[in-house]
Amino acid sequence: MIPTATATIAAMTDGPHALLIDGERRPSSDGRTFTTHSPATGQPIGEVSRATTQDVDAAVTAARAALDGSWSRTSPQKRARMLGRLALLLEADADRLAELETRNSGKPRWQALAEIRQAVADLDFYAGAAQHLYGRSFVVSPAVLSYTLREPVGVCAAIVPWNYPLMMATWKLAPALAAGCTIVLKPASATPLTALELGRLALEAGIPPGVVNVLPGPGSEVGEALVAHPGIDKVAFTGETQTGRRIATVAAAGLKRVSLELGGKSPNIVFEDADMDAAVLGSLWAIYYAAGQSCEARSRILVHEAVYERFAEAFVTKAAALRVGDPLAEDTQVGALISRTQAERVMGFVNGAVAEGAELLTGGAVDGQIGDGLDAAAFVRPTVIGGVRNEMRIAQEEVFGPVVTLTRFADEQEAVKIANDVRFGLAATVWTGDTARGHRVAGRIRAGTVGINQPYAAFPGVPFGGFKESGYGRELSIDALDLYTEIKAVLVGTGAKPQNPFGA
Ligand code: NAP
Repeated sequence: MIPTATATIAAMTDGPHALLIDGERRPSSDGRTFTTHSPATGQPIGEVSRATTQDVDAAVTAARAALDGSWSRTSPQKRARMLGRLALLLEADADRLAELETRNSGKPRWQALAEIRQAVADLDFYAGAAQHLYGRSFVVSPAVLSYTLREPVGVCAAIVPWNYPLMMATWKLAPALAAGCTIVLKPASATPLTALELGRLALEAGIPPGVVNVLPGPGSEVGEALVAHPGIDKVAFTGETQTGRRIATVAAAGLKRVSLELGGKSPNIVFEDADMDAAVLGSLWAIYYAAGQSCEARSRILVHEAVYERFAEAFVTKAAALRVGDPLAEDTQVGALISRTQAERVMGFVNGAVAEGAELLTGGAVDGQIGDGLDAAAFVRPTVIGGVRNEMRIAQEEVFGPVVTLTRFADEQEAVKIANDVRFGLAATVWTGDTARGHRVAGRIRAGTVGINQPYAAFPGVPFGGFKESGYGRELSIDALDLYTEIKAVLVGTGAKPQNPFGA
């Protein structure tokens, strides 16, 4: 039986969780710690060492030594085997890690488990991909042969958010290690625990000390010191667009390689010829998974005017019936938000939309009790806001909570126009019975991923990333692996006579 949110917390509070630097679990250089909480209960669940800029320096130095020592020259087969071993260790530990993730993030346990399984699949994918880092050859002339090598880009700073703590860490760790890079991973301050576990398991998998370092600590200090550090060659960041902008600016001083996976305001287009049941059920998943705290959450549902009322009624009924509550309970579908503050922010958007003339069809804050030991103020019910015009703030800004808007459109052209009329471009979904229309609309939407008649957006092997202010670079695919490498061209003299361009 799965324990409830208030049980077994004591078991997780003993001793501060240490930093991981050069294969050692260390306290921070100044001995400071911070407390990490369960968002669902508001209770502390552990003390975590808080890295300093001195620790950043030590971790980057260790990562550089590991890179130059042997890791960058370890054969792809060996790296693949280590990644494969890490995948097995993660899989074997999935239940415990899922519980830890749930306690630290507030997401339902079955969702945490699914994400850990995706992390395993991602490691497996890159274990294979490590052995397919091909260059090209080109005969420039009879006297010159060229070929290219893909070399590791170097020491990478991986900075990740709190919404998919372990999965996002793996999305960066796996391609970095596959390419022969070393990393310093900075988890979000709200959710540092599973990233530290990932680092520990990496060592257990035989990945040499210094290849993976993990530094919890505040983004404005530890994150920024990492981005600015001259020993960092590449920054791989996932988080808010505003933070991404800051990181790109700081990294520009050192002309570092940067990939940015940022926010979204993704459309979900329901045409009049769509299978309504599939569209309703898929659209529920596309917004309410992880309580809407997904970068690719399809938070704007655009519905053809001919089926708007029908869709809205069915969708609202289903949304209102989703089970909100204890993230550790097996039947919970929507857990806590990451914090009370986030829930307040989300409700600020909802209230603002109503003030702008939109209609709250279902959802909103939780009044009263939601379960024993749970902090109701950290939960928001699945919320649907109808009659939204795309210029309203609720349709333009990333809410990052279980809130979806309904907007009417009259024809395909208008649907595409509204879909594209935001500063983001991460994902989109199209629901239609017309195959040609599905592909046509997919081609016209300015987003990194478009789904047709299915709600999922991220699979290992499929490039994931944004257009416009949703960032640049890709994850989860061979394309991501390329971003952890530099291309080197080698030119070989193959002529029978010495080259003598001066005629000397
Ligand atoms: P965030 O506030 O931008 O934080 C992300 C990470 O950056 C955290 O580890 C944070 O540390 C760190 N950070 C903050 N300021 C920094 C700075 N000046 N320099 C270096 N690092 C800094 O984002 P979040 O609130 O954790 O996550 C939610 C956002 O992530 C949403 O916008 C969501 O759309 C986006 N996201 C995008 C994707 C994608 O693939 N496109 C996937 C998931 C999430 P602290 O935690 O210590 O502040």
